[in-house]
Amino acid sequence: MPVPVPGESFTSWVDAVARDSRCYPNQLVVDAWRLRKSRTASMARLDAGLTGRELQQIHAATGIRAEVLNGMRLARYTDQPLPALADLQDEWHAGALSFIRDRFLLRDHSRWCPLCLKESNGRWYLRWKSAWSYACTDHEVFLSAVCPTCYEPQDWIRAGPADRRLFCPGRRFHDSISVRRSSRCSHPLTEVPSTPVTDPVLLSIQKSIDYGFEGSPTVQPGARSALRLFLFPLLVDLILKFRSPDMFHDADPAIASANEEGASQSPSLSQGPTAYYDVAHPLLVAGAIHLGFRLVTGESRHAASEQFVELAYGKIVKHGRAWGSEPEYLPWHQRQLLPPRLSEMLMDRGVIRDSL
Ligand SMILES: [Zn+2]
Ligand SMILES: [Zn+2]
Repeated sequence: MPVPVPGESFTSWVDAVARDSRCYPNQLVVDAWRLRKSRTASMARLDAGLTGRELQQIHAATGIRAEVLNGMRLARYTDQPLPALADLQDEWHAGALSFIRDRFLLRDHSRWCPLCLKESNGRWYLRWKSAWSYACTDHEVFLSAVCPTCYEPQDWIRAGPADRRLFCPGRRFHDSISVRRSSRCSHPLTEVPSTPVTDPVLLSIQKSIDYGFEGSPTVQPGARSALRLFLFPLLVDLILKFRSPDMFHDADPAIASANEEGASQSPSLSQGPTAYYDVAHPLLVAGAIHLGFRLVTGESRHAASEQFVELAYGKIVKHGRAWGSEPEYLPWHQRQLLPPRLSEMLMDRGVIRDSL
């Protein structure tokens, strides 16, 4: 039986064991692990709701310790302290944490690195389900978000055959005169072309973010400065809302072109809630995180902040009160999740407001 690889997600490991046993994951869970059938409608929901007793049953059947299984669950980001915020304990901390838990997790799909997937033969990392995971720091490429053939995101909530970890399970429709038929897309997910990350700062920020979520010991000392982004988690969302091409001219070429006027806004329009937003798009998130990093660190952060505020204001003026471009209403407890000086500048310029 395959043992979990370091960093693997619980649902990926369930699929790996099912592949190995030549059965469907829900059969494995019921027949071999003796979990109740009602618990297997969706593997993601099983992951979210696993009880201590169920973890013990899986341990008894597989020999994998309950603590190890627990650390592989998406719930670890919501049940356990985040290393990025480990030193902080106050009211503000609770607000930041609940924002991060609300907005940072891709609950209904996962990104992936095709090169990692090839090396591991279909094992998926838990960190790919964080919206702030945009790059693989081993292979120095941006993560993939959707299948290039059918444009579907991967690792959906619904259960399915275990080989969906290697081949896209999306449907392709074939229209004929009399009948509409579909077949599985089956694009090999290990062969999806990946885009290299050319800006080393993006890789160092990603390492810092990985550390912030998982406490990985491999983080470089300098990269810890990106942890300031966790103190102001609303900043990246605000940048996504007010982003304009001018903010990304000198960014990594892939990021600059994803932010061009008329570029595809979202990698997918067909799946659940997180897939609809810009936050589901790895290149848009990478650009917003990179800009956010410049606004909270470094010598020129004041000049960078002024420039951002002017461009955001310019977007409001240009688009008037069109949906998505109106000033952002932020009550005071949310404004705390922005850098204080920037928050003042945005208020002064009318980009954010504190009353309706
Ligand atoms: Zn990789
Ligand atoms: Zn596909």
